[in-house]
Order: sequence, then C-alpha cells, then structure tokens
Amino acid sequence: MTFKTLISQKSIQKRNRVLSQEIQRYYSQKEWILLGLMNGSLYFLPDLLRHLPPQTPMETWKVTSYLGTQSTGKLRGIPRSCPPLKNKHVLIVDDILDTGSTLFEVRHAVEKMGALSVRIAVLLSKNVRRQKNVKVHWVGFKIPNRFVVGYGLDLDGKYRNLPDIQEIQP
Ligand code: 5GP
Ligand code: MG
Repeated sequence: MTFKTLISQKSIQKRNRVLSQEIQRYYSQKEWILLGLMNGSLYFLPDLLRHLPPQTPMETWKVTSYLGTQSTGKLRGIPRSCPPLKNKHVLIVDDILDTGSTLFEVRHAVEKMGALSVRIAVLLSKNVRRQKNVKVHWVGFKIPNRFVVGYGLDLDGKYRNLPDIQEIQP
C-alpha cells in the first residue's frame, strides 16, 4: 500500500480559519448548534470550534456506513431523538461528501427533530460518485475520486491520526 500527501496539515489549518470565519458570520445572530458526525470529524469539528465564540454549543452523533474502502449503503447510528437540536439552526459537520447518502439521511433526521434550519459543512468533497442530491454550504477542499485517510479519516479504524490528508493506493 502506498500513501501520497494530497493536502498538508498547514493547508487544512489555513482553510479551517477561513471556513470558521464564514460560518461565524452566517450564524452570528442565530441560535445555532454544531452537529459533528463521528468518527470522521474527530479533528475537523474541534479545529473549527477553536475559532468560534466560546458559547458555541455542539453535539456529536456516531454514524457509520463504511467497511474498508467501500460504502455498505446502510447507515447506522442516528439517534431516536436529540433534544438540543430542537428549534435551533443546525450546522452538520462531516469529514467528506462522497455518494451523499450519509448526509442525506442525517439531514432528513435533523429536520424531523425540529431544527429551524439545516446547513452542512464538509472538509472534503468528491464530485464523482454522487447518488443523492445534498446541498453543502461550506466545503474545505474538492478532491478527485480517490480513497483518502488522515486528519480523522480512517481505513478500518487505522490512519485517522495522520496529520495530513493522504491518498491511499492498495
Ligand atoms: P457518503 O455517504 O457520502 O458516500 O460517504 C460519507 C462517508 O463515507 C464519510 O463520512 C466517510 O466516513 C466515508 N468516506 C467516503 N469517502 C471516504 C474516503 O475517501 N476515505 C475515508 N476514510 N472515508 C470516506
Ligand atoms: Mg463519516
């Protein structure tokens, strides 16, 4: 297996600062909450949060759909209820948008729980395999259709703690 750096930690941090400023500007007059999807946003969520005002609330859901480098198509982990999201403007934060099915389902669940509005921020977006039409409001980087690891992204639980985003070739 070979690894190739696609996005360096320095570029990620620089982009995070810009993203959080834009996000902050949009939500400044709103009652809002960040909803991080774990484990993928393990680093992205706190790195955004670091640049946001200290009163910014957050929740996390642990959702999974992947086995190896393939999506199983079945999403697990959406809770039955999540009271902190009710009557709030919710910003869903995830690592990567691929087929779109994860964010499509999560978004739907958040709407049903009584959110006032739902927006989405992802660090990465692949534009090739989209199966569901999901509008993403903030994107860190657009990347080609490659399997990537690092900065929270894993391969069967491994490589999450690599500081850069790396492309993996089996
Ligand atoms: P989707 O439901 O949009 O197909 O996929 C979303 C989820 O699949 C992401 O939250 C992420 O956990 C996983 N995923 C998609 N592409 C990649 C990738 O290139 N690398 C890793 N590690 N996970 C990915
Ligand atoms: Mg994920």
